[in-house]
Amino acid sequence: VLELKDVHVSYKSGDEQLQVLKGADFTLNSGEIVALVAPSGTGKSTLLHVAGLLEKPTKGEIFVNGQNTAKLSEKDRTVLRLRSIGFVYQFHHLLPEFTAVENVMMPQMIDKKSKSLASKKAKEWLEKFDLGHRVHHQPGKLSGGEKQRVAIARALANSPHILLADEPTGNLDEKTSDHVFGLLLQAVRQEGLAALIVTHNNDLASKMDRVMTLHEGKIVPFTL
Ligand code: ATP
Ligand code: MG
Repeated sequence: VLELKDVHVSYKSGDEQLQVLKGADFTLNSGEIVALVAPSGTGKSTLLHVAGLLEKPTKGEIFVNGQNTAKLSEKDRTVLRLRSIGFVYQFHHLLPEFTAVENVMMPQMIDKKSKSLASKKAKEWLEKFDLGHRVHHQPGKLSGGEKQRVAIARALANSPHILLADEPTGNLDEKTSDHVFGLLLQAVRQEGLAALIVTHNNDLASKMDRVMTLHEGKIVPFTL
């Protein structure tokens, strides 16, 4: 469902080019959950951003459901992203002035779904994550674990096939992290999604189907 071919990403740093990804190849198969474990600064977030069509690679191609995304217009790429890919960040990235349910509705509203359908789906997901009593709270009134559960609900509510998560529980305490991570994996398996999840936690990584790492800008298998 997601394929990266010879993906390069470099950033300008002063006079020099910082090459972060140097020919990364990777295939995420339908229904598969893959962990990405690698040291800080090796390019995990960069990889997720290009795989999630939030950023364009300097070179190389990204295929989503067999479509070469480089050949799409900006608008078509945005629609493909909204419908196919859910994204969870390390910090929740919720909009502070909106309530939990409004935040979860956001991808569906941008995708021009009807408000009543978006609201129904958003509430269903919030209830699945035990947030039925927090639907009309703004993020500032939620705990860290609750905010992250709202962020996961938002990533799933527009029914994507692919979930990309960048240390989704990285800023939570261990007990909360285990709980939220459990909910995330359960939802991904139940929905039959393919997922690529960045984590620094080897115990969590060991619960996934396959573990990869980044080595010199390429994606290679990793043994825990
Ligand atoms: P961490 O585990 O700390 O989150 P990471 O593996 O996610 O690290 P990235 O955030 O992908 O690493 O960054 C890889 C490298 O690219 C770093 O050296 C970083 O400073 C650099 N970098 C990332 N984004 C940019 C940018 N927009 N402009 C310039 N350099 C960047
Ligand atoms: Mg990162």
